[in-house]
Amino acid sequence: MLLASREKEFICRKCGYVISIRHKAGLFCPKCGTILREKPKEKYWLFQFNPKIYRWHERIKETHSPERWLVSRYWKKISKGDAVILWSSGLEAGVCAFGKVITDPEIVELSVDEIKFWIDKSIIDKFKQKKSVLVEYLKVLDKPLSEEQCHSDPELCGLGVFLNPQGTNFRLKPVEWDRIVDLTCNL
Ligand SMILES: [Zn+2]
Repeated sequence: MLLASREKEFICRKCGYVISIRHKAGLFCPKCGTILREKPKEKYWLFQFNPKIYRWHERIKETHSPERWLVSRYWKKISKGDAVILWSSGLEAGVCAFGKVITDPEIVELSVDEIKFWIDKSIIDKFKQKKSVLVEYLKVLDKPLSEEQCHSDPELCGLGVFLNPQGTNFRLKPVEWDRIVDLTCNL
C-alpha cells in the first residue's frame, strides 16, 4: 500500500495493530491502549548464488527448510523480518524464489547437511568468520523469471545485480520487489 508522504505507519508493540496517521507521538493503540511506535520500514534484498559453486537447485529439491546465507556486505542493515528475492547467476540467471529473513545476523558454522551442497569448499571457512542469516522460503518458482526479462523491464533494468554483479547481498527497492512479484504471480 502506498502511503501519502506525510503519513507514517505506527505499530502497537503489544498487540501488533498497525495504523497510518499524520501524527508523531503520544498516540495510543485503539485496541489495547498501549503507546504506539513508528513502524520500521520494510526492507528488501536480493541474495545471489552461483550454481557453479553452490548446488542450490539440488538442495531445494531435497528440502525447503530455511537456508543459511552470508550477509557480508550488509550485516548491519539486514535483520529478521526482511524480505528476500533469490537470484541465480550463470547460464540460467534470474529470480528463483522469494523468502524471508528469520534470524538476525550472527556467526554460525555450517552443519554437515549444509556443507554438502557447497562445491567451493573455501566458503565453509567464511561462515566461521562472517555473519549469516537464515532465510525461510515462501515461494519457489517452478520456472525462474529470467535475467533477460528483468533486463528488458523498465522497472528492473537498474537492479543492483546488473550494475555490479559481484557479491551475495544487494539492496532491492520496494518498487523492484513489487514488480518482480507482479511478473511472477503466474510462474
Ligand atoms: Zn494494541
